[in-house]
Amino acid sequence: MAKKTVRDIEVNGKTVLVRVDFNVPMEGDRITDDNRIRQAVPTIETLIEKNGKVVLFSHLGRVKEEADKKGKSLAPVSEALSEKLGKKVTFIGETRGEKLEEAIKNMKNGDVLMVENTRFEDVEGKKESKNDPELGKYWASLGDVFVNDAFGTAHREHASNVGIATNTDVVAAGLLLEKEIKFIGGAVENPERPFIAILGGAKVSDKIGVIKNLLTKADMVLIGGGMSYTFMKTQGLEIGTSLVENDKLDLAESLLEQAKGKLVLPSDFKVTKEFDKDADFRIAGKEDIQKDEMGLDIGPKTLEDYQEILENAKTVVWNGPVGVFEFDNFAKGTLGILEKLSNLEETTTILGGGDSAAAAISLGYEHKITHISTGGGASLEYLEGKSLPGIDCVDEL
Ligand code: AMP
Repeated sequence: MAKKTVRDIEVNGKTVLVRVDFNVPMEGDRITDDNRIRQAVPTIETLIEKNGKVVLFSHLGRVKEEADKKGKSLAPVSEALSEKLGKKVTFIGETRGEKLEEAIKNMKNGDVLMVENTRFEDVEGKKESKNDPELGKYWASLGDVFVNDAFGTAHREHASNVGIATNTDVVAAGLLLEKEIKFIGGAVENPERPFIAILGGAKVSDKIGVIKNLLTKADMVLIGGGMSYTFMKTQGLEIGTSLVENDKLDLAESLLEQAKGKLVLPSDFKVTKEFDKDADFRIAGKEDIQKDEMGLDIGPKTLEDYQEILENAKTVVWNGPVGVFEFDNFAKGTLGILEKLSNLEETTTILGGGDSAAAAISLGYEHKITHISTGGGASLEYLEGKSLPGIDCVDEL
C-alpha cells in the first residue's frame, strides 16, 4: 500500500518534527562520509518550500553513559547541513527543556532547527532506544506533524521514530524513506524480471534471512565473498584456510537443497597463503584449492559468468562485497560487478547499505547505480521480508 509522503501533507505555518538519519561516520569533528546528510536534503528543502518550521531529530552513535556523549554531539552535523542547505540551521544542544521549547516557539516559517543527539536520552535508562512512552509523547508535543525520513533506523522501534509517530495525528514519509520503500520494497515485493541477487560479505550467518527470502523472490542468487566457502565445504570441496562457519554447514546444505539450482556458487577463486594486501596469489578452480590456501576473491571465470547473468537482468539487488575489496589485489571481483552494474542502463540496480554501498560511493559509482541504500541493518531486514516499525508507523495514503 502507498504511504503518505511530504508531498501529500499541509505544513504551512506548522511545526514539522522530522526524524532524519544523521548517524554519519566521524573522525573528531570531521564528517568522513556525508552521504546521509546529502540524502536528507530534498525532504528538508521540500518542507522549507512549503513554509513549514522544520525541527530535526537524529541519533549519532551509541550512548550508554555520560562519558559516551563526548564527540557525539550533532553540532558539527548541523554546520554541515547548514552549508548544504545554504541557510542557517539553529542547533540546540539539548534533547528537552525550556531552552529547546522556547527556540521552537520562536521559529518562523521556513526556519530549520536541530535537536541534540536523541541517544543522549539513553544515559538515563535507554529512554530513546527502548521507546520510553513519556519521551515519545514529550517530543511529539513539540510539533504538529511528524515526518520520518530515517531509513537507517527504520528497523528499530525508538522514541524518536515510532514514539513520536504514535503520539502525532499526521505521519508522513520523507522523500528518502519513500525512495528506499520504492526500490528495496519494490524489488522484494514486485520486481521486474529477471531479478538477480548478488550476496557477498564475510559470513553466511549474517545473511541467512536474506538468502532464504531472496531464494523465494529472485530468479537467481549469485554468491561471493567469505560466505562461499561454507557452502563449498558442504559439497565436500577442499577450502583450505578460507573463512568458514563450521556451525552453519547443515544450514548451508539445506539452503542449497531448497534453492533447487537458483543459488550459484563461484567456480574459481583468487587464493593466497596469507591474509595480507601484498601476499602472492594465484587463480584456483573450485576443486583445486590447496590445504594451505585461502580464497580472498572470486576468480576471472566466475566474474565473467556473473557478468553474463547480470547482462539480462531487469532488477539487481546486491549486498556485500564478493572479495576482500579493502586489498587492491582482491578487489577485482567487487570492482568488476560494480562496473557491470554501472553499464546496465535498462536495469534497476540496488545496493543494500553497508560495505558494498560504501565501496561504490568511494569508488565513484554513486550516480551509475539506480539506488544505494542508506541503511545497513535496515536494508538487510527489509530484504529479509520483515516489516520495519519505522515504515509501519507512517500513515497510508
Ligand atoms: P559484510 O559486512 O558481511 O558485508 O562483509 C564485508 C567484509 O567481508 C569485508 O570487509 C570483506 O573484506 C569481507 N570479505 C569478503 N570476502 C571475503 C573473503 N573471501 N574472505 C574473508 N573476508 C571476506
